[in-house]
Amino acid sequence: MEKILIFGHKSPDTDSVVSAYVLANLEQKLGKNVEACRLGNLNKETKYVFDYLNLEAPTLIKEVEEKQPVILVDHNEFPQSVDGIQKASIMKVVDHHRIKEFETEEPLYYRAEPLGCTCSIIYKLYQENQVEITKEIAILMLSAIISDTLLFKSPTCTPEDKEIASKLQEIAGIDIEKYGLEMLKAGTDLSDSTAEDLIKLDAKEVMIGNFKAQIAQVNTASIPDVMKRQAELEVAIENMIQERELALFVLAITDIINSNSQVIALGEKADIVEKAYQVKLENHTALLEGIVSRKKQILPVLSSAAQ
Ligand code: MG
Ligand code: MG
Ligand code: MG
Repeated sequence: MEKILIFGHKSPDTDSVVSAYVLANLEQKLGKNVEACRLGNLNKETKYVFDYLNLEAPTLIKEVEEKQPVILVDHNEFPQSVDGIQKASIMKVVDHHRIKEFETEEPLYYRAEPLGCTCSIIYKLYQENQVEITKEIAILMLSAIISDTLLFKSPTCTPEDKEIASKLQEIAGIDIEKYGLEMLKAGTDLSDSTAEDLIKLDAKEVMIGNFKAQIAQVNTASIPDVMKRQAELEVAIENMIQERELALFVLAITDIINSNSQVIALGEKADIVEKAYQVKLENHTALLEGIVSRKKQILPVLSSAAQ
């Protein structure tokens, strides 16, 4: 049986990498020939998690061959997936995002739930298949839930995510607040990232209405620290707009302590941001109070403003 590759989205975040890892572990326990992969370098937050557990990260891949069997986690939209996805054979998807820019030739297993984290869904798959969750797997899943929900503070976090996290905590035996804050803080160290790195760290290419956009996000404990670099960030963003022929690029600089985002918006459709949030972009930037979730508070809001 040909090996099935499991991976999350490009510009991988903790949920994307960990979901591939823990779903591969489950599939292997069920006798499947699978390999966990990732589509980019680990960010510092994810590196913190794998270093903490002294684990090797999933295999880096850039593209897949025609007919390669694959399982997608934490994404479904082809523009966010591996190069060659159109010709791959998608066996399964486990995801918690909107469904768009996705189609297959063959029937597949598709598991979508509107939870705060893909790992919360994978937790349920472990239960359904009666596969034991080890301490290591529990810490991995908890890390992904903490990351995606910003320590349960994001509006994407559901009561079910919290319930699952507390069950995982019993197995993991760690102090969630202490571990979680340290993990999130590790991800905010952007000191040695170039402006180009920074805008690609957690970027998603999406269709908003009928135009192509990228929404990137960086977490920080201090918005002014990141805004000091606005000029060089704008140069990098303008280059990306040219390279990818984007009508809009939004960089959300998210304060994980106070739950606000400062956005920098560039591109011919930048005024959509003003319309969507009733703010004025001054020098291409505005503060969006209480906005932390790209999935729930940015993407749908921009999409409806574009209509
Ligand atoms: Mg993700
Ligand atoms: Mg996720
Ligand atoms: Mg995210």
